[in-house]
Amino acid sequence: MNGIIKPRCVICLEVLSNELVKENKLKVHLEAYHTPFIGKDQGFFPRKEQEIKQNQKRSKMMRRYNFQEQRITECILDQSEKGEINSWK
Ligand SMILES: [Zn+2]
Repeated sequence: MNGIIKPRCVICLEVLSNELVKENKLKVHLEAYHTPFIGKDQGFFPRKEQEIKQNQKRSKMMRRYNFQEQRITECILDQSEKGEINSWK
């Protein structure tokens, strides 16, 4: 049994069943949904996968950064409303 690895289409990120891969229907999926990607070289798909992983990591970091920045802004607004920050103007 090999239930840990879940094959995933690196273009639409759809999780494909193991059966689908076993029966070599990846090509069918490609032909059905991603016609422009047919005939790409062998290195294209691993590259694409790396790209997706990096993007996911980056977007996770960006979310955290935005959250912190928002908190800081709220904090400054809160203080300035109370008149605690006067040196800003
Ligand atoms: Zn796909």
